[in-house]
Amino acid sequence: MQQDLNKCLVGANEIKAKVKELGEQISKDYAGKDLLVIGILNGAVIFMADLIREITIPINIDFMAVSSYGATTESSGVVRILKDLDQSVENKHVLIVEDIIDSGLTLKYLVEILKSRGPASVKVCTLLDKPDRRKTEVHVDYNGFVIPDEFVVGYGLDYDEKYRHLQEIYVLKEEIYHS
Ligand code: 5GP
Ligand code: MG
Ligand code: MG
Repeated sequence: MQQDLNKCLVGANEIKAKVKELGEQISKDYAGKDLLVIGILNGAVIFMADLIREITIPINIDFMAVSSYGATTESSGVVRILKDLDQSVENKHVLIVEDIIDSGLTLKYLVEILKSRGPASVKVCTLLDKPDRRKTEVHVDYNGFVIPDEFVVGYGLDYDEKYRHLQEIYVLKEEIYHS
């Protein structure tokens, strides 16, 4: 597996420190509010698990799954809900937790859907942001790391459902997805 990976982009300690910082900020910003944290499956699952344990105020959590790229590295722009929320977002403050924002198409769609359901507010927290690849304007409220335009895996992010369990974030070798 190690032979599939290029350089380590973000190390485990760096991730841990950033997740703690984000958790503290979110706890401050939502103090006294009814917060529903929504993890976007599958990519955000590791980040979500670590982030919510750094949040020190009472929260609810839920998950949504949307169609992903499968075994390619480009967004199709077509987003499908594979699993919807188990609870209503009405009058709740919603925080979407994403692994990475690339074209922004997935997020734009998610924000629109959730806003149409009458929440008190909708904000976005992402671990990684690749702004060079943006195809649509999206507002990100909490961001872990801005990264260059490279395909990354690890800490929840996959290629063909592999590498999600890695503790660090790596650049995947191009020959893996171009072969
Ligand atoms: P967007 O709609 O912003 O183009 O795509 C967002 C989704 O694409 C992410 O949630 C993630 O699943 C996938 N994605 C985008 N860039 C990368 C990347 O560099 N590595 C991996 N593993 N997934 C990515
Ligand atoms: Mg995602
Ligand atoms: Mg994926």
